[in-house]
Amino acid sequence: MKNKKPKAFLIYKLVGFCLLAVSITLLVLSFIVESEWKGHAPHPALMIPGVFLLALSTGLIIRGFAPELSKIALNNARYIQQETRDTQKDIADTTEDISHDAIKNTARAVKEGLKDYTSCKHCGKQIDVDSTFCKHCGKEQ
Ligand SMILES: [Zn+2]
Repeated sequence: MKNKKPKAFLIYKLVGFCLLAVSITLLVLSFIVESEWKGHAPHPALMIPGVFLLALSTGLIIRGFAPELSKIALNNARYIQQETRDTQKDIADTTEDISHDAIKNTARAVKEGLKDYTSCKHCGKQIDVDSTFCKHCGKEQ
């Protein structure tokens, strides 16, 4: 799409706008002519080609602006992609924080659970079974 037949798109635009002008003229005339004739309802001989040309010119103008439209669509897609990436990063960071703490707490609990306790020979307070010194009174076990 990039720089592909830029003249073709210019022609689409020019023809589209010319036909749009013609169709608007026809539609305006369809109301003016009919009002002089019967006072109401647009003239079908002008109205029908007017509507047809309006649709055709709209199609051509949209085709003519295809490079611009695709550029806008591309920019929107990029923006959405960037936003999504940022959001996903936030979610990942938050999840990481949560799981980090959860794993740490679980690991600590498991470690505590696996520990065996005994009583100090001197003060009788609870100490780890493998400790050489009492953490309360400091005496050797
Ligand atoms: Zn002790």
